[in-house]
Amino acid sequence: MGMPVTVNFGLREELLKVVPTLSLCYQCGTCSTYCPITDESYNIRLIVKKAQLGVVDPKDFKVIWDCVTCGTCQALCPNNVEIVNLVEVIRTMAMKSKIFPTKINEILWKIYENQNPWGYTVTDKKRFLAQFSGLINNENPDVVIYPCCLSVGDPRLQRHIKALIRVLTKAGLKVGMYTGLSCCGDIILHTGNRAFYEEYTTKLRDSIMNSIKLQ
Ligand code: SF4
Ligand code: SF4
Repeated sequence: MGMPVTVNFGLREELLKVVPTLSLCYQCGTCSTYCPITDESYNIRLIVKKAQLGVVDPKDFKVIWDCVTCGTCQALCPNNVEIVNLVEVIRTMAMKSKIFPTKINEILWKIYENQNPWGYTVTDKKRFLAQFSGLINNENPDVVIYPCCLSVGDPRLQRHIKALIRVLTKAGLKVGMYTGLSCCGDIILHTGNRAFYEEYTTKLRDSIMNSIKLQ
């Protein structure tokens, strides 16, 4: 017989604020069936069940970093439970308990210092932007392209961006491009570092608004 579980109503309320659909889970198991990392130590269905009871098992603080935030569980969940949000909240708690892979700190520092998790430099970014100098116009554009940090290092994505600019220009639109900070901040959110996420995305929003001249 398993140990009795005490429902933590306070924590349950906290979790419901971030994952409002949490109580809709009826333990069908679709999430854990299709989750690519399900094994004896990681079972997302069980983690959701515990969260419904306001229980976050400290043992999960270690395995929660195995999730690749692919979102398969969430996409297939019949009740649209925001499972990735739950993973991120548990990671926030794990971070507070100082249980996280050391690589995470390295990635967050790179974003803090270079605005991207890959480690490319300002020179790399300038070289990337130079390809588009004759194609974009940031004076009152109709549409603005946000080239994510991944595209700076990936020639295939660069070709996609050029193709997109050509299509939009042919359609008669004036195309602008955001040329400032690179990372959208998504990766920070996935690490569970919400304070840094808020700080970074506020800076990013201001930077975007200031870099594009709209009438
Ligand atoms: S797929 Fe959704 S409803 Fe089914 S167990 Fe997972 S979270 Fe619960
Ligand atoms: S997001 Fe995480 S928990 Fe969900 S299917 Fe992907 S690896 Fe599994």
